[in-house]
Amino acid sequence: MSMTVALPTIHEHEPLAHYVAWRIGGPARFFATATTADELRDLVLWGREQELPLFVLGGGSNILVSDAGFPGLVIRNRAHHHTLERRGDDVRLRIEAGAPMAGTSRQMAAQGLTGLVWSEGLPGTVGGAIYGNAGCYGGDMAGILHSATVLLPDGTTAEWSVGQFEYGYRTSVLKAHAAAPTAIVLAAELTLYRDDPVKLGAEIAVIAAARKAKTPSGSSCGSSFKNPPGDSAGRLLEVAGLKGTQIGGAQVSSKHANYIVNLGGATAGDVLRLTDLMRERVVQRLGTELELEVQIVGASA
Ligand SMILES: Cc1cc2nc3c(=O)[nH]c(=O)nc-3n(C[C@H](O)[C@H](O)[C@H](O)COP(=O)(O)OP(=O)(O)OC[C@H]3O[C@@H](n4cnc5c(N)ncnc54)[C@H](O)[C@@H]3O)c2cc1C
Repeated sequence: MSMTVALPTIHEHEPLAHYVAWRIGGPARFFATATTADELRDLVLWGREQELPLFVLGGGSNILVSDAGFPGLVIRNRAHHHTLERRGDDVRLRIEAGAPMAGTSRQMAAQGLTGLVWSEGLPGTVGGAIYGNAGCYGGDMAGILHSATVLLPDGTTAEWSVGQFEYGYRTSVLKAHAAAPTAIVLAAELTLYRDDPVKLGAEIAVIAAARKAKTPSGSSCGSSFKNPPGDSAGRLLEVAGLKGTQIGGAQVSSKHANYIVNLGGATAGDVLRLTDLMRERVVQRLGTELELEVQIVGASA
């Protein structure tokens, strides 16, 4: 028996700047929000049927959307249902990929479950963190992911073990093939452990304070460049004298040289000219090639 499922509303020419941390970027030709993993799958299949370029948007906290916008279907993933299952000493959290990392971390800690504490304050979704192997404060996604349910290009789903994501520093097989995405994450299984909720609350407070102290105010995308092996991109950019450098509405933060802040009205073009200048200056002065951490999305401006 086949069943026709109603798709979520598909909007046209939706400005993407509202949905991304930098508050920059042109419109999506088509735009829809998925609130369940099934809706995400149905929207992807619809987009493929229409032969549209596809982009799955999590929290928009690691992307620069071009000024020309995205010429296909952008699916904003808000699917966040979760279940917990006891497995001997540990607990398996099964969670849809649109769940917020930081909110989930707090929710689990309040129930006396650890494993996600490092992600206190980390912007974005579980899916985005799986894609880019997000990490901070002594943890990363590769360290807690057990497996994930992925949607493959042929429309079938599969269970991938953590090894199949081929994780490295801020990268995965998904990010390495960004131009032709191999899989979309529908849901993940994370391994958590029991611990004292009071102790976890204290750990969270320490991380929250550390994050607050280092994060510039204003709209940014976190670190613009990856840290080169054995060094810090922020340190190199600061030594190269880039703090405070401004192009249009985009400025290298004077608090953290690896953050670019949108002072208001910055365009993707401003950010790209600024990142080019930052990269060139660091090569000239310090001989190190920096690699962008943020992903550029959409038609070139
Ligand atoms: C203030 C600030 C601080 C930050 N600090 C850190 C930090 O400490 N450590 C760190 O690692 N990062 C940090 N970041 C970057 C960002 O939080 C992470 O990269 C985050 O994991 C991105 O998740 P997202 O949901 O926002 O992804 P998005 O930016 O929406 O998307 C990023 C990529 O993931 C893909 N994607 C999203 N969901 C899925 C899915 N379900 N299936 C397949 N692909 C998917 C998108 O298509 C896109 O290619 C920071 C960002 C900000 C703004």
